Amino acid sequence: MLTTSYHTHNRYCDGEGEIAEYLEAALAAGLEALGVSSHSPLAFPNDYAMRAEDLPAYCAEVERLRRAYAGRLRVHLGMEFDYIPEHAADMWAIVAPLRFEYLIGGIHYIGHAAAGTPWVFDLTRQGFEQGLHEIFGGDVRALVAAYYERVRGLAAWSRVAILAHIDHIKTWNGDGRYFSENEGWYRDEVEATLRACARSGLIVEVNTSGWRGSSATPHPSPWIIRRCLDLEIPLVVTADAHCPEHVAAFYPDAEALMREAGCSALAVLREEGWRMERF
Ligand SMILES: [Zn+2]
Ligand SMILES: [Zn+2]
Repeated sequence: MLTTSYHTHNRYCDGEGEIAEYLEAALAAGLEALGVSSHSPLAFPNDYAMRAEDLPAYCAEVERLRRAYAGRLRVHLGMEFDYIPEHAADMWAIVAPLRFEYLIGGIHYIGHAAAGTPWVFDLTRQGFEQGLHEIFGGDVRALVAAYYERVRGLAAWSRVAILAHIDHIKTWNGDGRYFSENEGWYRDEVEATLRACARSGLIVEVNTSGWRGSSATPHPSPWIIRRCLDLEIPLVVTADAHCPEHVAAFYPDAEALMREAGCSALAVLREEGWRMERF
């Protein structure tokens, strides 16, 4: 059984509900560990990331809950760090002193929108189309290449433990609307990116939220999961919950998929750090 959920949001960012509600939901789902991982603050206006001024309260609340749930549930202080190269150093200066137990690195932005701020590609299909045409001249291959190049930059940056939703760029690609994952150029981008992850010792996330989205497949796609196993890249299963009911969403499907792919151990956070444990 899968017993950990390290990628969760809450009311400090764009999640619904208090952190304590996620912990109660985790206990009800039979989990043994829950990591709290709100979106890191951003350097430009937005309505989904944490605000920098809330960071101390966020950390203090997780610490208080960690003590309150000791012996029942392992509670971890984490964060989903939004990797945007031109802002990474400034954002890191804010985050680094706070001693997070782990960071999940995620990419939700590529290039710049007309307003001059980074372009978010995952919010709406309409927004995706707009960026595809305005920034990439309708060339989806160029967009996808820019995305994976950024993921490789995040892998090389090497300040995060987990790489989130590695094929996030397929978010609006349900039914292969924009590209086929069987095309050689797409497979080459993914392969180069997985090799960058392997070099950096990153844990790659199997994120079940894709099953809830338009692509109706997990992140990453099963063929990429199998390739991770070939390359001996450590994996972790997460739900990317944005409401308490989703802390273990699609876990039975994920467990079946992992076993079918030949995976028998996943990364687990212990006091001494990440280690592989059988599930
Ligand atoms: Zn994310
Ligand atoms: Zn997330």
